[in-house]
Amino acid sequence: MSPKKKSAPAKKPATKKKVADKKEALSPAVAKQEKKTQKSYQNVRGMKDIVPSQGGQWLRMFDAARSIAESYCYGYVETPIVEQAQLFVKSLGRGTDVVEKEMYVFEDNEGTKIALRPEFTAGIARSYISHGMLSLPQPVKVWTVGPLFRHDRPQSGRYRQFHQFNCEVIGERNPVSDAELISMAYNFLRDLGLQAEIHINSIGTFEDRQNYIVELVGYLRSKRSYLCENCKKRISKNPLRVLDCKELGCQEALEDAPQIIEWLSAASKDFFMSVLEYLDELRIPYVLTPTLVRGLDYYTDTVFELFVDGGKEQSQSALGGGGRYDGLLEEIGAREATPASGFAIGLERVMLALNKKEKEEQEGSDVAGSRHPAGIERQFFFAQLGEQARRRTLALIESLRKSGIQLGSSLAKGSLKAQLELADKMKSTHSIILGQKEVQDGTVIIRDMDSGIQEIIDQKKIEHHLRKLMK
Ligand code: AMP
Repeated sequence: MSPKKKSAPAKKPATKKKVADKKEALSPAVAKQEKKTQKSYQNVRGMKDIVPSQGGQWLRMFDAARSIAESYCYGYVETPIVEQAQLFVKSLGRGTDVVEKEMYVFEDNEGTKIALRPEFTAGIARSYISHGMLSLPQPVKVWTVGPLFRHDRPQSGRYRQFHQFNCEVIGERNPVSDAELISMAYNFLRDLGLQAEIHINSIGTFEDRQNYIVELVGYLRSKRSYLCENCKKRISKNPLRVLDCKELGCQEALEDAPQIIEWLSAASKDFFMSVLEYLDELRIPYVLTPTLVRGLDYYTDTVFELFVDGGKEQSQSALGGGGRYDGLLEEIGAREATPASGFAIGLERVMLALNKKEKEEQEGSDVAGSRHPAGIERQFFFAQLGEQARRRTLALIESLRKSGIQLGSSLAKGSLKAQLELADKMKSTHSIILGQKEVQDGTVIIRDMDSGIQEIIDQKKIEHHLRKLMK
């Protein structure tokens, strides 16, 4: 035995004793006080929980995303939450806010620079190349939903972890793809009950843009003193970004700025006109917005954003946005030209818009007060009275659940009043009541929650009866 091993057992009791000593030293009152003052853990700044009262709505957005994506024949994909940081630097651009200020970057154990994904497009484009999707029938249409990370200053509608519903069409350059994507984003919001306003512009090809940028920089220099501090820096770093600055001074200074649309090549102009014509065909309203440029380097031609409530004055009020990115895949390693376009909608902002709408609709009514705390609704509620009834109920609910009928219940509660109150909160139309007498008779009572009218039926016929009542 090595001397090291010998000494080990001697140490253990000493440590235990120390702990015991400390415990003994603290009187119960002091220990209680110490526990009280212990700091509780907070969520990391800018990262939010979804609590049960929001869970139903959150899942409804996922369902709506899946349903619309499948109806447009998109396949579901998932990419890792982390990618090599360089992927984002290369695709989004070095001078962009996301890469320069907002990306969470760290070195992993092997010294590789890793980033938490700040957006989906670059990862999905990387995945398309990695998996040789070019050999699949084109275009490849994919959708995903999940968390993204940007180290921005948190405020309402702007978080450090947020979620997007994202769709991409890779391997096709046709204005009809852009129109279809826009209609899909618009219809997703409409399905959730939100009327979106689409702002649209074209920023042309990289070449169109270079000529325009020279002109724009000249103009911005002449207005330098009117611009905010951020925009003064942007003149040399990312002049296009000045165009969608929300500061009043900057907006005024931009009134006579050259418009990118006038610098588009004939091909880009035609392309843009076709996108608009398809939108007209689909009867999707849009607002031509010459200052809309989007923040990232990879965009070409069509760019768009979606708003509700006409809330375009605040920078964080867009619910989503997207556009064409014909050069990105080649930039990150595709062997041939692979045009593409896509959009992303922020789910936290959709949720804020839905809450606002719901609040406006409920103003004056007391619906919220009588709602189940987790927003759970069930058409049927099973209530029981007494231990024997509870046992029988457990088995009956299980068998109904297996046959596809979902019921609310609160088996731990003894009082019928408390159970029926819960049924009310769950908006149940009918309660099934099982007491001692019904256990003996092999029956249950079905109570209409609105009229209070009760019916006695055989336990064997519950399923049949409930199916007749089902909405
Ligand atoms: P972007 O990728 O910046 O074009 O953003 C697309 C959409 O994602 C925005 O319109 C927002 O709805 C949402 N989004 C972007 N950044 C954030 C953030 N920091 N917090 C919450 N939502 C965000």
